[in-house]
Amino acid sequence: MVLDVALVGTGGMMPLPNRWLSSVLIRHNGRLILFDCGEGTQISLRSLRWGANPPAPPPAGTPHRSIAAADEGQGGVHIAHIDLVLISHLHGDHIAGLPGLLLTQANSGRTEPVDILGPPGLSDAVTKLRVIAPYLPFDVRCRDLAEGDTFELDDLRGTCALADHHVTCLAYRLDLPRGREFLPARARELGVPIEHWKHLQREETISFDGRIVAPDEVLGEPRRGLSIGLVTDTRPTPALRELARGADLLICEGTYGDDEDQPRAVERKHMTFAEAAQLARAAEVRQLLLTHFSPALVDPPKYAARAEEVFPQTVVGHDHFSLSLKFS
Ligand SMILES: [Zn+2]
Ligand SMILES: [Zn+2]
Repeated sequence: MVLDVALVGTGGMMPLPNRWLSSVLIRHNGRLILFDCGEGTQISLRSLRWGANPPAPPPAGTPHRSIAAADEGQGGVHIAHIDLVLISHLHGDHIAGLPGLLLTQANSGRTEPVDILGPPGLSDAVTKLRVIAPYLPFDVRCRDLAEGDTFELDDLRGTCALADHHVTCLAYRLDLPRGREFLPARARELGVPIEHWKHLQREETISFDGRIVAPDEVLGEPRRGLSIGLVTDTRPTPALRELARGADLLICEGTYGDDEDQPRAVERKHMTFAEAAQLARAAEVRQLLLTHFSPALVDPPKYAARAEEVFPQTVVGHDHFSLSLKFS
């Protein structure tokens, strides 16, 4: 089982000619989850290709790669397939792209409901944004989340924690649990008929021929699943450290690269690269992926070393960077 992750954009505040607004796309079992949807997110989604991993764009003044509708073909993203949208907070750079995205899903023939989750006020904000997209051929199901609320998409489990920003902001964690290994030799030894194996794999107790077999008798040790933390527009906090604890991947804002911008980060409730790296180290995650760069941060990789000093497993993200997480 695999979780595919792509950075749709990596910018904060406003989309730039060579940097879309910060947004993450996650794919599991053919289902798509979008984290944040600023202005232009659907344009970037259209030219995103899983696994293509383009090199980081040159710093400034370079226009985006050409965008063709045909990009939805091989390796591309079908916008209609986005089932769940997670919104961090109600600042324009994280939500203003929503009505356009929903309209495009409608134009692509979607009829299944779309779920949108976010902080308190989300449902009201979506209702207001939908003044320009009132008729959609599917239900838009909004849910205002409180700290610690949980949600599910197939076998993915999600939860959220309160971030520390100028407006109410949520950070998310997605977990893909892994079942215990089934030991067929043990099942055969116990004479369990094959039709009962799938129930034991699901950790259900079964009975046959007047005998009872518990899952523990045919299953191995618990196994590590996969987990992703999604943290943006916030100061580092203990609650976020616990949310991301032990995650395979922490996608985290690094609005400022230079340590000299730390006072500005405090004032505007964002993080520097070094602060994000400290959060990753304290949470003992496996990998840190930085995003949400200030428009004034022209060349984010220039400050990579500052983050790596604190947390070596850091990647400075760029638009359309993608990776896959697999069960180890
Ligand atoms: Zn932002
Ligand atoms: Zn913000």
